[in-house]
Amino acid sequence: MQMSVPSCSLHPRATELVDEFISWRHHLHAHPETAFEENLTSAFVAEKLKSFGLEVKTGIAKTGVVATLHGNKGAGKRIGLRADMDALDIHETTNLPYASKHPGKMHACGHDGHMTMLLGAAKILAENPDFAGTVDFIFQPAEENEGGGREMVNEGLFDSHPVDTVYGMHNWPGRDIGTMAVKAGPMMASYDVFEIVIEGKGCHAAMPHLGHDPITTAGQVLLALQTIVAREINPLKSAVISPTQIFGGDTWNVIPNTATIRGTVRTFDPDIQDVIEARLVETAKHTARALGCDARVNYQRRYPATINSPAESEIALSVASKIVGVDQVDTNPEPSMASEDFAFMLNVKPGCYIWLGNGPTDGDRLLHNAAYDFNDDAITHGVSYWIALVKEALSRD
Ligand SMILES: [Zn+2]
Ligand SMILES: [Zn+2]
Repeated sequence: MQMSVPSCSLHPRATELVDEFISWRHHLHAHPETAFEENLTSAFVAEKLKSFGLEVKTGIAKTGVVATLHGNKGAGKRIGLRADMDALDIHETTNLPYASKHPGKMHACGHDGHMTMLLGAAKILAENPDFAGTVDFIFQPAEENEGGGREMVNEGLFDSHPVDTVYGMHNWPGRDIGTMAVKAGPMMASYDVFEIVIEGKGCHAAMPHLGHDPITTAGQVLLALQTIVAREINPLKSAVISPTQIFGGDTWNVIPNTATIRGTVRTFDPDIQDVIEARLVETAKHTARALGCDARVNYQRRYPATINSPAESEIALSVASKIVGVDQVDTNPEPSMASEDFAFMLNVKPGCYIWLGNGPTDGDRLLHNAAYDFNDDAITHGVSYWIALVKEALSRD
């Protein structure tokens, strides 16, 4: 039977060195560490980067590491490539020989693979830096929940390392090995949370006219919130407001003083995020006032949407097409409603975040699953992409 072979153009050094890269990945997998405690991990990363002869800066946002490589063809642009280092609070069930040695911690999102691919690209580029310009290899802590990317930016990452553009990558189970997904515009949603405290006046349940009932008011507020997306957001755009907790009161015959609603908002568009935040606050307050109560609203923006800029997405697309073949690049992936803190870097620098195929999801090989393991067959694709991206991005006018 004739098999169709994808027309990959992998970097020959990446193929030669793949066993070494896999050994790094398995070491990192066996020693997972979570948010801002990536001490062994960042020491391993920094030691490798120094051994390649790079300038290495450590301790940005506690455990963040950045290594700098200057091309040997003179000055030029400056590009940042980012990998995340943290693991998750999950008990690993893989029984692999290199399974987690840290009970309750696990690399279940493939950040072990992300570090390995960026280290591999750094090693090969350092062997032969035949480009004009500068590359910064950025290893960030605490991608999961804690916003390590935001902390690196706040601590002056781009002042000490003034890149022109920044690029990221995430492995994606369910997409075949040897495929990539690249698109300009939104890739991942923003993640906001809210808490609405309805303040009324407690009283005897049999004499409601003597108080202001926060329970009935909370019911009206819940329904009113659902009119924001339905009536105030362009139907061609997407957003979701999901109240997820409601509590108030202690017994049958007392109208309580307060009732609380909590929930989350997701969208891809910062303008829509602004509208929803403003209207959620107004809707809650005015609905509450109409019923004799007040509403206190605490609205927090956790992660912005991850939005790829057009020119850099075009560069990423052309590089991906060269590495895995044009037919293997999904140029119109459906964005994910999950969130990603690389968004904080893309908020201040143009750039592009892509998905790298990580093979089938058999046996619960899903992100954040206790049976997940990054697929080593993707390493050479990721390393080759990073190397080609540096050359392409720095050669553009
Ligand atoms: Zn994750
Ligand atoms: Zn992840």
